[in-house]
Amino acid sequence: MTETKAQHECPYCHGKKIIVGDDDIEAYVLIKINCLFVEPRIVKPGGNNGTGRPINYCPVCGRKLEA
Ligand SMILES: [Zn+2]
Repeated sequence: MTETKAQHECPYCHGKKIIVGDDDIEAYVLIKINCLFVEPRIVKPGGNNGTGRPINYCPVCGRKLEA
């Protein structure tokens, strides 16, 4: 599968940029290990440190994510 230049340089699915919540003080959303993750800014000891769901495509550029 060939990637477009935009997909090849997409900072969201290459793990360089937060997708939603850059300025949010409580939580943000990013792609990590081919999962869409919601992570809290502050992780309390023993608390919830985020949840993820496997996704097949980058929601920003549409690139197929591979393991
Ligand atoms: Zn992408």
